[in-house]
Amino acid sequence: MNHDRYARQQRFVGIGAAGQRALSEATVLVVGIGALGTHAADTLARAGVGKLWLCDRDIVEWSNLQRQVLFDEQDAQRGTPKAIAATAHLAAVNSAIVIVPFVANCTAEFLDALPHLPTLVLDGTDNVPTRYLLNDWCRKHRIPWIYAGAVGSEGASMVLRPDGHCLRCIWPLPPATSELGSCETKGVLAPAIAAITAFQTAEALKLLTLQHDAVTRGIFTCDVWRGSYMVVRNQGGKATDCAVCRGEHYPALETGPPAAITLCGRDAVQIDLPQRVALDLDAMASRLRGSASDVERTPHLLRFAADGCRFSVFASGRALLFGVQDENRAQALYDRWVGAH
Ligand SMILES: [Zn+2]
Repeated sequence: MNHDRYARQQRFVGIGAAGQRALSEATVLVVGIGALGTHAADTLARAGVGKLWLCDRDIVEWSNLQRQVLFDEQDAQRGTPKAIAATAHLAAVNSAIVIVPFVANCTAEFLDALPHLPTLVLDGTDNVPTRYLLNDWCRKHRIPWIYAGAVGSEGASMVLRPDGHCLRCIWPLPPATSELGSCETKGVLAPAIAAITAFQTAEALKLLTLQHDAVTRGIFTCDVWRGSYMVVRNQGGKATDCAVCRGEHYPALETGPPAAITLCGRDAVQIDLPQRVALDLDAMASRLRGSASDVERTPHLLRFAADGCRFSVFASGRALLFGVQDENRAQALYDRWVGAH
């Protein structure tokens, strides 16, 4: 190991040699390797977090390059899965840590199948249901997690620790994405992402080095266009009637994920299957060459175009359908082109 690598960070009084050692022994799961997740993973890889697990279900597209820092034009050209592209990039930045990509939908089943419990979970997702899933799963296993979100020029982030309130204590029912606004309707600026992940990863460094007194209490919000930020302090701790904090039940762990999900900010739908299958993508590619167009087998998936829709199909049976927004239509197209094979 090159001992100069972390010299500036260790010299900071908040970290020191003991903090650096704690970072090297930590495992951080980053869920969603898009704008938020690439910024956060980049910071934590450079900081020397010993093990990074990167989970994302999507592939790199051209519209990602404006703000998703670990990807390049070749990734967009090839439609490389984001978790794979980010891992390749970060492995070249820090070869002394372990980085594991998971090209997968983050579900309760996925979380339960992880090799061991992570030290910390970072939210890099773009949707409310996955955040409630992370909340319930982390609460059940008494793992801290850090919420983050950004839309337009604004961002928000909050640390959720096992001994404090959870997301459901504050918002018992998940808000509709339409209430919050989305990247699709409002767009998003890269500096808003950078600002909010700077807060999120600073909090992560405090938690991982066990400096709980330094952790910010409350919701940090910023607006990089207006040039404002503030911390809204939480009043009190856990809600006394929160079933999750009382350990009575965990709603997001009790229902399976929907089969079809419209992806945020995209003209795309993901189709997943209730159980894993093992598709022979090479055989499927051969069959499709007669009927579909632009059939391309990449190292990680199969791409083709049919019925005005672009498909990216993974061996697990999961598929991303671009050029379609209606979930029923996407399911029908999936059944026609993928499910029947
Ligand atoms: Zn709660």
